[in-house]
Amino acid sequence: MSRILCVEDEPHLLRTLGANLRARGYDVDLAPSGERALELAAAAKPDLVVLDLGLPGISGLEVIRSLRHWTSVPIVVLSARDSEFDKIGALDAGADDYVSKPFGMGELMARLRAALRRPVPTEEPPAVVTADFTVDLAAQRVITPAGDARLTPTEWHLVEVLVRRAGRLVSSRELLQAVWGPQYGDETNYLRVHMAHIRRKLEPEPSRPRYFHTEPGMGYRFEPVEDEHR
Ligand code: CA
Repeated sequence: MSRILCVEDEPHLLRTLGANLRARGYDVDLAPSGERALELAAAAKPDLVVLDLGLPGISGLEVIRSLRHWTSVPIVVLSARDSEFDKIGALDAGADDYVSKPFGMGELMARLRAALRRPVPTEEPPAVVTADFTVDLAAQRVITPAGDARLTPTEWHLVEVLVRRAGRLVSSRELLQAVWGPQYGDETNYLRVHMAHIRRKLEPEPSRPRYFHTEPGMGYRFEPVEDEHR
């Protein structure tokens, strides 16, 4: 049973999409805005996202960019404007396919089935191995010599975003928005608290981080150190 998140600001079309998908046996979450879509995507972990590009508030394009910080869930875009520019922008930002409005429900369903069949691309390695632990991105686990690290969902989410961008600085704002949502950005105290917990669970010397580095005033960076000897 696949779970589909529908994002559309026209109430009638949103209801119609929901009814058609449920009639075909899908579990459905409905979001009337991009803000709600990001919350539901994090909470419900959909197998596919159907996304209207023309949304009030944060745009469909911003929703795609925000999702792509942490998930490779297939995204099928609905584009009202028959504009190549919008579609190309959406595909460049990480959408998988698009359907132009107005569309036939049969055509949309066929595109969704195709997107669900497609194997999720794994550009990043499914696991990142360091000298002290292994981050299994597919299984969403961190394995230490003492067994599974007991990370909370928020801690895992932070680890995942940083590990997927290993070696690169991820700004505090990007981390907050990827993990807590687009309305966040200044709550750097959240990050300090959770990063301290993560270090306590994963770093051999939490006060002298080897893997999860703070870039003061900027953000955080994960270094996948592999050698046993410093
Ligand atoms: Ca719209």
